[in-house]
Amino acid sequence: MKTETGTVVLVGSREDIHIQEVARRLGVEGVEAVVVDTLAFPDETRMSLSESLDGIIVDGRSVGRPAAVYLRGLHTSPLAFMVDAQEAMDEDWRTTLTAFREKATLLNGLVARWEQLGVPMYNPVSSDWVMNKPVQLAALRAAGLPVPRTLWTNDAEAVRRFAAGGRVAYKPVTGGAATRELLPEDLTDERLSALSSAPVTFQELLPGEDIRVYVLDGEVIAALRIVTSALDFRQNEERLEPIELPPDVAQNCVKACEVLGLRWTGLDLKRGQDGELKFLELNGSAMFLGFDAGGGTDIAGHFTRALAKHAKR
Ligand code: ADP
Ligand code: MG
Ligand code: MG
Repeated sequence: MKTETGTVVLVGSREDIHIQEVARRLGVEGVEAVVVDTLAFPDETRMSLSESLDGIIVDGRSVGRPAAVYLRGLHTSPLAFMVDAQEAMDEDWRTTLTAFREKATLLNGLVARWEQLGVPMYNPVSSDWVMNKPVQLAALRAAGLPVPRTLWTNDAEAVRRFAAGGRVAYKPVTGGAATRELLPEDLTDERLSALSSAPVTFQELLPGEDIRVYVLDGEVIAALRIVTSALDFRQNEERLEPIELPPDVAQNCVKACEVLGLRWTGLDLKRGQDGELKFLELNGSAMFLGFDAGGGTDIAGHFTRALAKHAKR
């Protein structure tokens, strides 16, 4: 059987531009990229795992021990990026959710095998548990890194007490919706009763600049200022400017990556009222093509060369 050493596995959707671009660039580097299409699993992608850690066959080929893995996305929930489960959910939500759970268990097992085998993972799945924001920010803070004053809660009284401490922003615990300023009219009983449906993140409002930093294998490879007049920069960026980070900030970004066990990340910093840059979050599978296009950085190049280096050893 053909040995697979030297291939890089890309886990995600073939329709994802990040998967496409990394595959294309690996080809240019002379490194073979194998896409494990998790969006098309299980309807199209065929996958078999045996009882040995490296017993992994995808679309008829052995991918037991790749040189490195780019873990873009598993698409394991009806809510996940690019997944369209509307029809299936409308027809039979319980069976559909059960099928998604089966898919998730298999795919999580698959990627965890690669980590068990010592394959370099971008990013390691062992970091997953610490990536949820309520633990992530607390872990950064415990390591001495600057994070905004934050409260994750469904307790209306706790929100009122928190809001007495200064301007506050609120946003989802997971992400995926806009950040807004908490206003006096949000503190009514009626408005706060929404907390009995789901908890929310309340955070010190950071009025200053938005910075996105990419760290790869222990080094800052790009930093950009997002020039915007909106509180939440996503969909509102007016301009991206590459910047040089002060050495202490760069060091903190590398440290944050180490604290969470990430090999690479796109992280969000924002400047507070007090002038300090604070960590909003580190992303385990950050998008980067939009930043390269708008800011003139070469995150794609750095990232692909890092993957290729493992394959060429
Ligand atoms: P997500 O995972 O949804 O990207 P972030 O915490 O990065 O969540 O928030 C998204 C954006 O909203 C930030 O990049 C920033 O522009 C804005 N934002 C988030 N938290 C605050 C805050 N505490 N104060 C001011 N703006 C914020
Ligand atoms: Mg963010
Ligand atoms: Mg995020």
